[in-house]
Amino acid sequence: MKFNDSLKEIKIYEAGKPIELVVREFGIDAKDVVKLASNENPKGCSPKVAKAIADNAHRAYLYPDDSMFELKDALSSKFSEKNENIIIGAGSDQVLEFISRALLNPNDSVLMSKVTFAMYEIYAKQMGAKIVRTPSYQHIVEEFIEAYRRDRPKIIYLCTPNNPTGDATSKEDVLKIIDAVEEETLVVVDGAYMEYASAKDKRYAIEPNDLIEFPNVIYLGTFSKAYGLGGMRVGYGIANRTLIGQLYKMRPPFNITTLSLIAGIEACKDEEFVTESIALHRQEIKRYEEFAKEIGVEYIDSYTNFITYLFNNNMDSTDISDKLLKEGVIIRNLASYGMNAVRITIGTKEQNDKLFSILRRVVV
Ligand SMILES: *Cc1c(COP(=O)(O)O)cnc(C)c1O
Repeated sequence: MKFNDSLKEIKIYEAGKPIELVVREFGIDAKDVVKLASNENPKGCSPKVAKAIADNAHRAYLYPDDSMFELKDALSSKFSEKNENIIIGAGSDQVLEFISRALLNPNDSVLMSKVTFAMYEIYAKQMGAKIVRTPSYQHIVEEFIEAYRRDRPKIIYLCTPNNPTGDATSKEDVLKIIDAVEEETLVVVDGAYMEYASAKDKRYAIEPNDLIEFPNVIYLGTFSKAYGLGGMRVGYGIANRTLIGQLYKMRPPFNITTLSLIAGIEACKDEEFVTESIALHRQEIKRYEEFAKEIGVEYIDSYTNFITYLFNNNMDSTDISDKLLKEGVIIRNLASYGMNAVRITIGTKEQNDKLFSILRRVVV
């Protein structure tokens, strides 16, 4: 069988290790495993959402409302947009896939920062597109504009805050990049962690409303991170109606489940849960900053629900991740991103304490 040539270029996405793997490989009890690898909300999801999912379990036999009217309505009130400006995906990942399929032809190029969300590359390569990266992991305006002028990419990905580094790009800088780009290029502003950035520093807060006037810009958001619904797979894209109309052509019917739809709708009604989650997070992330100083490790100032620790030459991120894993703590090794660094999702106080005590022993 001969597979599509574009597949040769693709490395399979390495997802955060599941709890089940640690149970199987190291015989550790599932309840003792601490998973700080996939940027899930340590508070779980809103109890109101969990109840709505349980109460509606019997409706699993029904296809969802394919218009997703209620969820779009909830999102349009939240962001002061119109339903026609919104597309829902099975995670914002699926919206990224729609974008790639709607725009890219073989040999087109896409532009992104040196270290950023791995799926941009994978979806682009599926279409045979070429990947262009700026020299820095941070989103530097001049670097983006220079690469844009040189390569004329079809899509520019601005991940702010950025995964897996945790830094963010100010609204001012994002708008400078958008201003330098002509309409033929789509700018994707991926705000998967925007709730955390907005709570930390208003200069980094970007709302769909800031971008909707641009014909070639789309904002992506998700319920997977601050809303604690990674397992339900609900995300969204917000842009002008012409762009949304084109992306709709890529959408399979019923692309999120009946229960995911209910979860998204209920989640929008409980913003207090998000506020509380972020308050807990802000307390705990301070402890990670202090802990890093205590053990002499550098970190990147984080605008997300995780922190990235950068190791010097005496320490190896793979070795450290393996040692933690053997003791039942899963974190994300960034060696595959070319960094001697680890990404740690901020957990509950107890989870973080466990990680600190092991790390204190293994980091020398
Ligand atoms: C988690 C994440 C997403 C999307 O997650 P979904 O679960 O598919 O909504 C998108 N972009 C970034 C940068 C992420 O970290």
